[in-house]
Amino acid sequence: MKLCQDWQKGEGVSRKMSQRVIPSERILMGPGPSNVDPRVLRALAAPVMGHLDPDFLAIMEDTMGLLRMVFGTKNQLTMPMSGTGSAGMETVLVNFVEPGDRVVVAVCGLFGERMVDILERVGAEVSRVEAPWGRAVDPEDIRRVAKERAPVKAICVVHAETSTGVRQDLEPVAAVAREVDALLIVDCVTSLGGMPVNVDEVGVDVAYSGSQKCLSCPPGLAPVTANDRALELLDRRRGKVPSWYLDLTMIRRYWGQERFYHHTAPVNMIYALREAVYLIVQEGLQNVYQRHARNMAALVAGLEALGVGDFLPPEGQRLASLAVIKVPEGVDELAVRRFLLREFSLEIAGGLGPLKGKVWRIGLMGYNSKPRNVILLLSALAAALRQQGVKVDLEASLAAALKVLSS
Ligand SMILES: *Cc1c(COP(=O)(O)O)cnc(C)c1O
Repeated sequence: MKLCQDWQKGEGVSRKMSQRVIPSERILMGPGPSNVDPRVLRALAAPVMGHLDPDFLAIMEDTMGLLRMVFGTKNQLTMPMSGTGSAGMETVLVNFVEPGDRVVVAVCGLFGERMVDILERVGAEVSRVEAPWGRAVDPEDIRRVAKERAPVKAICVVHAETSTGVRQDLEPVAAVAREVDALLIVDCVTSLGGMPVNVDEVGVDVAYSGSQKCLSCPPGLAPVTANDRALELLDRRRGKVPSWYLDLTMIRRYWGQERFYHHTAPVNMIYALREAVYLIVQEGLQNVYQRHARNMAALVAGLEALGVGDFLPPEGQRLASLAVIKVPEGVDELAVRRFLLREFSLEIAGGLGPLKGKVWRIGLMGYNSKPRNVILLLSALAAALRQQGVKVDLEASLAAALKVLSS
């Protein structure tokens, strides 16, 4: 509003104004978006090309090939949808589920809830299998419900539940899906590029992700992959896909050999995604996973030594990309986050829904998973806690983290 008023007064572009438009750098250690490698930002700034330019078609091919590598799949249909992670979620649910289909959804946090919401809009008959926020869903519960409700079209799970920091192991759910002959649909928005997903090896039929979490690209693209079994069901749909924009039966004709125009591809975002995924593949997937695991272990050790190591998920169900810890009794969680942002330009997140005011969510995703961020977070959090009169032993915390980092 103020910006418009300045313009109307004919003041031109004041220095103050340009500062409002170009944001200063932040260290994004929340649940996403995460910081972006400068090489990715440079790719984003390359000249715009036509979305049917032969050079751009080559970039699309690269992007699909690189995405197949990080997903761990040979699936022909592997490509980024235009939109954020939620567009990926909506894409797979509107394409592979039809009105009246029975679907089982594992719900133990916000993103499982979001899947249910979309599926209800699709007109599916949804059966929820729940666990408390902070725990993974028991695959035995999924098996029981899937058998009771047979025939089931699909089983949907969130691999890394960003609202709670819980990891849902995929293998046991994949076994259930095979047993009841249902599609396995997986949200790997917060795991892809930070933890092994291995779509083909595990037996995932359909998966989606988002560009701005462990892939460390700006928000705006949603990589999706689907195997032939899922595509056969898509080809046999009883009716048209209810969303025109997210209709894979049309979009795959643009990403396939036909180059059929559907909508203008977000060209520069695709340059950026190609670069981001290239950097992951170049580092080596195993190295990337090890880096995430080691930096998270260092963060955990440091937080424990700081006296704030009360994790919401039990050990064995945690993520390498995101730590969710309970806010200590008597600490003003919002004041801590404000302090971190004001004093250190450091962003972490609070809780959502039932966890509002109760937890902090600290991400070490992709480009951000590095020792210097672990040390910064521990030091800055110690300062924030001290400011609230909490006694903390920063030296012990840093020593604990450094010990993990040097091992
Ligand atoms: C962030 C996230 C989404 C949604 O992605 P947006 O980019 O916010 O639309 C979906 N699922 C999970 C697990 C997420 O972490």
